[in-house]
Amino acid sequence: MTAREPVVSLHGVSFAYGAAEVLSDIDLEVRPGEFVALVGPNGSGKSTLLRLLLGLLRPQAGEIELFGGPPDALRSRHRLGYVPQRPGLANDLTASVADVVAAGLLSRGRWWARRPGRQHQAIDRALTAVSLADRRHERIRDLSGGQQQRAFIARALAADPELLVLDEPVAGVDAESQRQFRESLLHLVRERGGTVLLVSHELGAVADVLDRVVVLKRTVRFDGPPAELSGTGVHLGVHDSDLPFWLEQVE
Ligand code: ADP
Ligand code: MG
Repeated sequence: MTAREPVVSLHGVSFAYGAAEVLSDIDLEVRPGEFVALVGPNGSGKSTLLRLLLGLLRPQAGEIELFGGPPDALRSRHRLGYVPQRPGLANDLTASVADVVAAGLLSRGRWWARRPGRQHQAIDRALTAVSLADRRHERIRDLSGGQQQRAFIARALAADPELLVLDEPVAGVDAESQRQFRESLLHLVRERGGTVLLVSHELGAVADVLDRVVVLKRTVRFDGPPAELSGTGVHLGVHDSDLPFWLEQVE
């Protein structure tokens, strides 16, 4: 794969759970270094599209490639970070928050194991990005569901993946948490040359740094820079609370 080839591509993709078609004739390409938001009303197929491009589901029609090959053939797992919308709760684990984040580094192999300083830095940075630095020694099972999801976001960030796929991550509610999270995604894209595909209803914190917004409702309704959405009456940054309302109008 050369740098110009898409990290992810879907062409003519359709998918149904049983008889109910959820996605129809999807065309989408994401290129290296892009920061792309995927938005759409509840039930519009966002999580399904992510599961397809990760190889967790197979389409009934169309072609999907991840890093230039079939998604379920990806061997180098460290290239990909994925935080599902509702990660299973970690109630039976004795691992600490820091242990969970450190596990993200294992997939990077022996190169990292020889650099404990770099490892600590990566773990610190990731915990700070999700505002969990002060909870690092607590057991993961003692955290709330939302905090556990943040630990899983940190695990994915620490691994420094080429492609980070986030399904409605809740990185924290206050402005400082939003800023930290935004900085960590920007670091991945701008400093590391990584690619981010973010499903979210809360684009206020990242609206000004997104390369593209893709609006999904069974098929792709809009795909372009955030500024172009303004022409259709949506202002992601200033009135991000308008977005879900506007999306319900998309027919
Ligand atoms: P979104 O993430 O945009 O909210 P989803 O991809 O989760 O949408 O769901 C799209 C549609 O598919 C919804 O109507 C949902 O009820 C349905 N759906 C999702 N997962 C399943 C499943 N495992 N089996 C059957 N239907 C499903
Ligand atoms: Mg979803």
